[in-house]
This record gives sequence, structure tokens and C-alpha cells, in this order.
Amino acid sequence: MKNTNFRKPNIYKTNCPSCNETIHIDEFQVDEDEVIDCPECWTLLQIVSVQPFKVIEHFDENDFEWV
Ligand SMILES: [Zn+2]
Repeated sequence: MKNTNFRKPNIYKTNCPSCNETIHIDEFQVDEDEVIDCPECWTLLQIVSVQPFKVIEHFDENDFEWV
């Protein structure tokens, strides 16, 4: 299968505020207010800014139930 129109996504980089591990994420996964987890320490991180890419530790205020 060939897709000549395929364009490599931009990769955003930032550091985990908890363990300082470098986090790479492609642009299609980056959205303001999205919550991702650190691949190293599993801390939930909220994307507060895309340009520049910036995350903070995410704390759930509304007793969110994991199903
Ligand atoms: Zn981390």
C-alpha cells in the first residue's frame, strides 16, 4: 500500500513536570485541554498550550469514575 500524499506529522516535545522525562507527541494528538499520560511515570498531564507545547499535572476535581 502506497500513499504518496502521506505527510509526516510534526512532533512536539516537552518535559514531564513530574519525572522530567521528555515526552514526544505528534500533532494529531495535541489538543488544548487534552489529558495525556506520561509514558514514564503515568502522571496525568493536561495540555495547557500547543504553541509552545506545554503540559501541567492534571488533577481531577470532579471525582471522575474510571470505568
Ligand atoms: Zn513523567
